[in-house]
Amino acid sequence: KSFEDYRLSDEIKRALSVLRYETPTEVQSKVLPAALKNKDLVVKSQTGSGKTAAFGIPLCDRIDWEEKLPQALILTPTRELAVQVREDLTNIGRFKRIKAMAVYGKEPFAKQKEELKQKTHAVVGTPGRVMDHIERGTLALDKIKYLIIDEADEMLNMGFIDTVESIIKELPAGRVTMVFSATLPEDVENLCHDYMQNPIHIQI
Ligand code: AMP
Repeated sequence: KSFEDYRLSDEIKRALSVLRYETPTEVQSKVLPAALKNKDLVVKSQTGSGKTAAFGIPLCDRIDWEEKLPQALILTPTRELAVQVREDLTNIGRFKRIKAMAVYGKEPFAKQKEELKQKTHAVVGTPGRVMDHIERGTLALDKIKYLIIDEADEMLNMGFIDTVESIIKELPAGRVTMVFSATLPEDVENLCHDYMQNPIHIQI
């Protein structure tokens, strides 16, 4: 199967061809159909499997360019991953002019605050700084339709569980949630059980 066989917009297909992504990786071929149907997903997969595009493609496809407030929130355990995911979303969404932004600690809060005042389709960030923005009212959550928790097991290892939970509680109901994790320890399973709607489990 090629990306041409999926119901993706021409702008996304064009971007994938520029990136030389021709055939979906295994995780992409399993996640894409479910994500395009707006299902909640728990995906057990390693880095290097193409997991970023697995959520990046449906996300960029579904983002409404006209909307000024953020529509997608992606939580990552590290700043490096946040920057990488932001770059991948920008590449996948280039022909839709998708604006993705990364927020993380150790970068001035004020700079991020200014950037968040501009149109931003997707916000990628580490839990601590994301929570900071929420608490100070600089990150609007009203229009969030997608929550992605990337490398969930790492996030928990780093002690972010409570912060992640607090963030989830602030999000609008009716959103789609996708959790990606290399392993599924009990606390990740519990988080999924508590905050997702009949999630589909995908194992790579
Ligand atoms: P990730 O697991 O998201 O870190 O992706 C691993 C690498 O695979 C990245 O360098 C991606 O650019 C690349 N990649 C992702 N999807 C595809 C695809 N369908 N075809 C070729 N390369 C891909």
